[in-house]
Amino acid sequence: MPELAYLNGKIRPISETYVPIEDRGYQFGDAVYEFIASYNGKLFCMEEHMKRLQTSMEGLSFPKIDKSFIEKAVYELFEKAKIARAGIYIQISRGVAPRDHAWDKKMKVQIIMTIKEVKEYPLKLREDGIGIITVQDERWANCNIKTVQILFNAMAKQKAKDQGAFDAIFISKDGIVREGTSSNFFMIKDGCLITHPLTKNILPGITRMVIMDLARDLGIKTEEKFILKTDLFSANEAFLSGTITEILGVRTIDGIKIGKGKPGEITQKLYKALRKKAEQDI
Ligand code: PMP
Repeated sequence: MPELAYLNGKIRPISETYVPIEDRGYQFGDAVYEFIASYNGKLFCMEEHMKRLQTSMEGLSFPKIDKSFIEKAVYELFEKAKIARAGIYIQISRGVAPRDHAWDKKMKVQIIMTIKEVKEYPLKLREDGIGIITVQDERWANCNIKTVQILFNAMAKQKAKDQGAFDAIFISKDGIVREGTSSNFFMIKDGCLITHPLTKNILPGITRMVIMDLARDLGIKTEEKFILKTDLFSANEAFLSGTITEILGVRTIDGIKIGKGKPGEITQKLYKALRKKAEQDI
């Protein structure tokens, strides 16, 4: 099960793959990315991830790349690595050029990928739930575009870790709960599943979308609306969602117990449904 890297058509071990220092992704954060997971040797929601990647590239006015070209490259790497439970990181930068803020519109994008085995979270973490903290959202204004400019997300995650919490959620200066550092946020109140609407302030999570569909199938009421920080503490349940996170139930927010202080019934039901869908998806 080798862990491999892809760089502009060439597949090699990760440790032997290098990106030129004048890659605009490295110097300007001028790159977009995706992270796709596989279950039982099958990539989950490939189509949706490819679509979002295209949208992100459009958002930064990258030249058009044929969707099937990227798809073929992803499958080539996936088939070569033969990792059944894989995580594929895809990063596309505007390209390599002498450092200059403006760019030559004819430059060629640079595609890199890595494939590694996904390390599942311990069962205990899923059963006990996670502690999260709130931090003020100081990210840029286009969080719907999945760029590699995620320094503030990294800083918030580190702050959470330093405080003994698992993760952080961003709160706007008006007190609106946005999302996690690498996840979307959901809360459940009186049986209704509530999450932030799709605006420029959050990433349109693929897992978020799958969960909303699953909830409707399960007869759970859903609502997309702004949640205020002050609403958090009356939630019956809360969880984070993402490709690797899947669904992680929240135990506490800023040290205050949410619901019964462990992942609730609806959270667990949705997690089971999500795993089932991912593992059986054809
Ligand atoms: N929000 C942010 C900021 C993220 O980084 C991620 C993970 N990439 C998500 C939400 C969840 O997205 P997805 O379900 O597509 O992994």
